[in-house]
Amino acid sequence: KNQKLTPLVGDRVLILPENDEKATIEEIEDRTTELLRPAVANVDHSVIVFAIQNPDPNRILLDKMTVLSLSAGVEPIICFNKLDGDQKGNGKKLKETYELAGFRVILSSCKTSEGIEELKAYIQDKITVFAGPSGVGKSTLLNRLQKGLSLKTGEISEKIKRGKHTTRHSELIPLDHGGWVVDTPGFTSLSLDFLEPDALKDFFPEFEACEEACRFDDCVHINEPGCGVIAAVDTFKISGQRYESYRYLYQEIKNTRRQYK
Ligand code: GDP
Ligand code: ZN
Repeated sequence: KNQKLTPLVGDRVLILPENDEKATIEEIEDRTTELLRPAVANVDHSVIVFAIQNPDPNRILLDKMTVLSLSAGVEPIICFNKLDGDQKGNGKKLKETYELAGFRVILSSCKTSEGIEELKAYIQDKITVFAGPSGVGKSTLLNRLQKGLSLKTGEISEKIKRGKHTTRHSELIPLDHGGWVVDTPGFTSLSLDFLEPDALKDFFPEFEACEEACRFDDCVHINEPGCGVIAAVDTFKISGQRYESYRYLYQEIKNTRRQYK
């Protein structure tokens, strides 16, 4: 309080014990990351979960979530779940697309257990926030990673609708193998309008290597002549679908920010 700091879930602090039940927080260490919703400090990475099918992935929503994670300084990994029901090899295609964009991708199935050990190793000794739309298998996955682990979701908002007071604080659930999982899904507030439209490109990691070829230093890769990013899309070095998401989100940010003015 003296330093006008409010402790957050996930903070690393120095405490001065007064007795067995009471201690004073003397110091809060500098935060590596600070998420707003859920309000948690020092999250190491996010696991963005989408299903390969049932439901089909909403690619714009997926790309939006990668932008939200990256813009919070939290490295995302993408998990495509329900591999067991994938008859057409769509999982493999999704993996290729997102690896080309520079993300780490895990294909998983709660039925065959494929990918579960990889995911377990990935979240060990880290603070992880899970994200993704409902129905993709987040809770089932978490339960496979550790028995009894699940995410708080629907029930909370139901209570709020009925006007009951519920504090919306998050908690960190300790993992048996070391590490922590945030108990509520991340990036549920999905607006990107806190970003300047021209800043969006910084959160598409695959653009970086091609931007040097752009004729204009301030190219935003939309309509400019001599754009290195558009050239890379034409030669399949950048996924056309990712680029379409970029254009869509760029326009969306422009439109919402215009409404505010
Ligand atoms: P959440 O809303 O993201 O937490 O999703 P749930 O964990 O509640 O799962 C939604 C539905 O998908 C449930 O009926 C699960 O049994 C099913 N499900 C979860 N993972 C898998 C999987 O790997 N394969 C298949 N076929 N179904 C799954
Ligand atoms: Zn460009």
